[in-house]
Amino acid sequence: MRIDDMRISVGKIRLIGLGPGDRALLTPAALDAICCSDAVVGYDGYLDQVRDLTGGKQIVSMPLGMEMQRAAKAVKLASEGKAVAMISSGDIGVYGMAGPVFEHLAANGWDGKHPQVEVVPGVTAAQAAASVLGAPLMQDFCAISLSDLMTPWEAIRKRLDAAAYADFVIALYNPRSKRRRKQIAEARSIILKHRAANTPIGIVRNACRTDQESTLTTLGELEQHFDRIDMFTTLIIGNSTSYIHNGRMITPRGYMNSSRQTS
Ligand code: SAH
Repeated sequence: MRIDDMRISVGKIRLIGLGPGDRALLTPAALDAICCSDAVVGYDGYLDQVRDLTGGKQIVSMPLGMEMQRAAKAVKLASEGKAVAMISSGDIGVYGMAGPVFEHLAANGWDGKHPQVEVVPGVTAAQAAASVLGAPLMQDFCAISLSDLMTPWEAIRKRLDAAAYADFVIALYNPRSKRRRKQIAEARSIILKHRAANTPIGIVRNACRTDQESTLTTLGELEQHFDRIDMFTTLIIGNSTSYIHNGRMITPRGYMNSSRQTS
């Protein structure tokens, strides 16, 4: 027997994206990964989404704001040989917990094998919001988070300016919270420097959840809708070609004007 085979058990961390909320959008791979785990680590709100799948498992819930502690706890449990499911909403690799776990491992001399780490993707908020709106992400797009908790506001301003200048469709995550109110107004002003006031914007709150709400507006009129925007909301700002038709937001893919269509 080789030494490797004699190791009692190698722990494993599965980093799992739960999707936006609707159970039908939890992937079969994510479901399997949760079901075959010994311990589930996450923030209370996310644990509630999968409570029916976690019976008999060790549950480690930690409040928002304790991301590095959550990562350390997951690594500790895996070092004890457990199969650990770390869960987060949407895609765990998009403003989620995949980063803190890998960072914690890297800072502690991880050899890449002990523990094993697997990332299970999920449907991210931008995709969920886009599905509610129609087809707004048909051209190059980017995601920008307006949270300046860990990224200086100056850096976010620069990204907004560059993305607007380069005519990306922009998905805005973390757009407005109780304490963070000015950022969305400033983001609008920056984008207005490069884009017309009639640029369509989709505001989607709780996409693909039972209490989903969506509003279509324009960059010029966005201010009237600030009250609808909170931390459960994703905004999709169209590019210079996006338009609204019968309540749907469309960014043309380009085929209608393409010479290939007639050739
Ligand atoms: N990992 C998540 C993003 C976490 S950041 C993902 O991939 O979706 C948190 C932000 O995501 C929220 O402030 C909001 O902007 C967005 N968000 C997450 N779920 C959402 C939903 N169901 N509807 C609309 N926005 C959502």
